[in-house]
Amino acid sequence: MRRIHRTDVKAEIVREPGAKETTHRKLIDTPDGADRFVLTEFDIAPNGSTPPHHHDWEHEIYVLEGEMDLVLPSEGRAERVEPGDAIFIPRDEPHGFVTGPDQSCRFLIVAPCERPPVRNFFLSDDPYEYTQMPEYSSAREGK
Ligand code: ZN
Repeated sequence: MRRIHRTDVKAEIVREPGAKETTHRKLIDTPDGADRFVLTEFDIAPNGSTPPHHHDWEHEIYVLEGEMDLVLPSEGRAERVEPGDAIFIPRDEPHGFVTGPDQSCRFLIVAPCERPPVRNFFLSDDPYEYTQMPEYSSAREGK
């Protein structure tokens, strides 16, 4: 058994192309002995995002605190999620996360250990910034 408190794990800036104001803590990772699944806590500050992307592995999401919009490009919409929501993203389903100026969100993600980056396809070509709201997230007001 291995017990880890979130504050024992350093928050790292997410440097995926297009990610903004997003940090994560790898709560349980392969160095801890995990060989099937990793557990990661994400924290998106106001005006943050992870760009819409898809990959051939699933992940599970559990919202702990705050709120954000889950962007679903293939459905042409975004959906507000809040604490207590559990969300399943099947493999290859495009998804992204966005917070507005008065929003932030802390959530857990469970993902397989084996997730080769070459299979991570970002829909955004913008390498470092993500200031333009995509048309499919127009459900969010005031931006
Ligand atoms: Zn993803």
